[in-house]
Amino acid sequence: MRESGSLRSLRDANRRRVIEALGQRGVASRADLARATGLSRSTVSTVVADLQRAGLVSERPDANGATSEAGVGRPPVLIALDRSAGGVVGIDFGHSHVAVAVADLSHEVLAELWQDIDVDHAATDGLDTAVRLVEEALAEAGIPQDRVLGVGMGVPGPIHLPGGTVGSTSILPGWVGVDARAVMSERLGLPVRVENDANLGALAELVFGAGRGLGDFVYIKASSGIGAGFVVGGKLHRGVGGTAGEIGHTQFRGGGDVCRCGNRGCLETTAAAGAITSAVSAGRGEVVTVARVIELAESGDALAQRVLADAGREIGIAVANLCNLLNPERVIVGGDLSAAGDVLLAPIVQSLRRHAIPTAAADVDVVAGRLGKRAEVMGALAVVLREPQHELASSVAEAVGDRA
Ligand SMILES: [Zn+2]
Repeated sequence: MRESGSLRSLRDANRRRVIEALGQRGVASRADLARATGLSRSTVSTVVADLQRAGLVSERPDANGATSEAGVGRPPVLIALDRSAGGVVGIDFGHSHVAVAVADLSHEVLAELWQDIDVDHAATDGLDTAVRLVEEALAEAGIPQDRVLGVGMGVPGPIHLPGGTVGSTSILPGWVGVDARAVMSERLGLPVRVENDANLGALAELVFGAGRGLGDFVYIKASSGIGAGFVVGGKLHRGVGGTAGEIGHTQFRGGGDVCRCGNRGCLETTAAAGAITSAVSAGRGEVVTVARVIELAESGDALAQRVLADAGREIGIAVANLCNLLNPERVIVGGDLSAAGDVLLAPIVQSLRRHAIPTAAADVDVVAGRLGKRAEVMGALAVVLREPQHELASSVAEAVGDRA
């Protein structure tokens, strides 16, 4: 009796490992799962067969590019968790919008809603809007609220983990001191994880964009602030308090302008959106937005091109330092400044080649992010999808046991 009990618990443990690995990858081959779990191919095949019999896993003949298999001949059969296993919700609070998305555990986005609203003004308006959008998006996706495994959430300001309280007085005046995570969790009756915008961008590119299949890359969000998200060994590196990646506040020179963080000479004082729009506004004698600066640069305006290129060169020095430290495979540039394309990206590459050690510079390529303004809400989905889903794994493993 003792022996059969321990066999059963071993089988349960194997099932949980396979389910968690599959949930994190969305779509995978049996070989991918064997590599990810360290289990043998035959053990994985047995577990997958059990899950298929119970209707919890299905084959995906149509998926392409989602596997890490670099084989020749017939492509491997890909599998994914069935939609009945549950879904996840992502919420993004921008300065002037709320976006909500719902995905299933194969990482397919089923619904996406966007509403313009003055989020900075008052936290309660933003939270009310988000709750309504979540209900609408779940209805559209056909996923009942009690099948949601978790909610990821982004707010446009510094977050201190683990509480998730918005800490800055300068970015979101209506939100200071609000425990957005706790409020949303209570209103939705679901677990909520909060992440900063640069980390969300990194996770979004990892799961849905230009970082798919990569183990080590750096995401740069170039916008009203400049932040970085680090993916190291296939995982987001947050640091002990969640503030890793504040490259906008790395020091470039002893003097320089005063920064909103209280220091002088930070990268943001010369290369963030505010510095760019002030320089172009001063030169033209009219107030311009980031979108207008990019439009001017595209139409050949020398001043706009020069100011964006200077910002790119400065960002490139910070990126060169990051490449020396982390030796990433790719640098992905997102945020609204990245819409400038090569006007910004080419000078980043130039600085990188000049300032990074040659081997680190040779290993890395620099590309624009693929997700544009959807980066944060996709990242909010990804933050839940990439977490180990212990509860999901246990409940799915139990469901198989019941039907066996
Ligand atoms: Zn600073």
